[in-house]
Amino acid sequence: MMLKVVPRNTVPDNPDQPVPLDFSEAAAESPELRSGPLFGLDAGGLATVLKREGEPAWRGEQIAEAIYHQYITELSSITTLPLALRQKLEGEGWRIGRPEIAKVFQSADGTERYLVECAGAKPETVETVWMPEGDDGEAGDGSEEEQAGEGQPDAKTWRRATVCVSSQVGCAVNCQFCLTARLGLKRNLTAGEIAGQVVAVFDRHNVRVGRDRVNLVFMGMGEPFLNYNNFMAAVRLLVREVGLSPQRMTVSTSGIVPGIERFVQEPGEVRPKLAISLNAPNDEVRAEVMPINRKWPIAAVVDAVRPMRLRPHERITFEYVLLGGVTDRPEQARELARLVRRTGLPAKVNLIAWNPGPDFNYSTPKAETAEQFRYALAGEGIPAYIRQPRGRDIFAACGQLKRTLEA
Ligand code: SAH
Ligand code: SF4
Repeated sequence: MMLKVVPRNTVPDNPDQPVPLDFSEAAAESPELRSGPLFGLDAGGLATVLKREGEPAWRGEQIAEAIYHQYITELSSITTLPLALRQKLEGEGWRIGRPEIAKVFQSADGTERYLVECAGAKPETVETVWMPEGDDGEAGDGSEEEQAGEGQPDAKTWRRATVCVSSQVGCAVNCQFCLTARLGLKRNLTAGEIAGQVVAVFDRHNVRVGRDRVNLVFMGMGEPFLNYNNFMAAVRLLVREVGLSPQRMTVSTSGIVPGIERFVQEPGEVRPKLAISLNAPNDEVRAEVMPINRKWPIAAVVDAVRPMRLRPHERITFEYVLLGGVTDRPEQARELARLVRRTGLPAKVNLIAWNPGPDFNYSTPKAETAEQFRYALAGEGIPAYIRQPRGRDIFAACGQLKRTLEA
């Protein structure tokens, strides 16, 4: 499906204008290339590169082990490869090319926000967030018993953590309450750039997959389902090469119906959990705060989700941003409850009090308003959780990611 791409860097004055979409088939990394980054290729792709060098396929496995498990970032440091081979690959222009953390902002609550350098054909920085102790709705209460030391990664003071990953530089979906929207879409990230954020953060915190409990949320900058192929290629890399479980990953979408339709068909072994940014109790309010609702209204989104075969105990998450006076009224909680019940999907609601940004006409509801909203949902039989903001002081919280250089 091809939709015309309308480049746009600012929020349009008229929220009624059609949402610019890029649902083109962006190419996932391919070893057809004769040189470039190795990070992003799976073991098969690496084997293809190595075979062209006249090397056995298992040399590809050695590189995969080095870059995805040992977090090695220089070809010259992969000592399992013969020196001559390392030099030959480098001479031909191959490099590991993993995204690197260029700047770190540390929050009082232990959260870290990173500017990650993606040195692709068009170098860009994106944002990635590390939240020790996690904030995955049910249990994440934002309380930290210890904090990271100044400028240093913590010496394993966390028991579990969540990494929030970006899928695009900027975003083309024009949600009226979100700072990322102000950037417009700069470009899609490649699979290596998406998975690379995770590996760079794992490297910083010495995460050992299998030992440590780390969740991923694809809730950073961008709309994952408008960069579908690269996003899913990144998930496959993270599952098959890095060794993470898709059941520890959640992807959030603003409701891109063609993307959801593809996603529900993905095989369970590489399908993350799904969160839908509902953010309003009906189409009228939703279209106001999320103009994309004019293209894909709530019913179309729900119809697209319905065929998804959930795992035992799996639920769909509906995210709901509480905007003071706009979406946080008690009767809207009851309307939302009816809506969620009508979907017939096993679901829970994550409530997110709006995180402020400059030049918005929205306000953050008081804690007791949010709690009343949650209570009203619970009273209607809808499980609801208030997500505690993480790293608001360093612009790391939901909707605040905009390559803000200040902390
Ligand atoms: N583009 C995807 C994923 C990234 S946004 C999506 O929209 O779902 C992750 C979540 O942050 C979404 O649920 C979005 O509604 C929410 N969000 C955006 N701006 C926010 C803000 N200023 N305060 C609180 N939540 C916000
Ligand atoms: Fe894009 Fe999500 Fe922000 Fe909407 S909330 S503008 S979809 S990043």
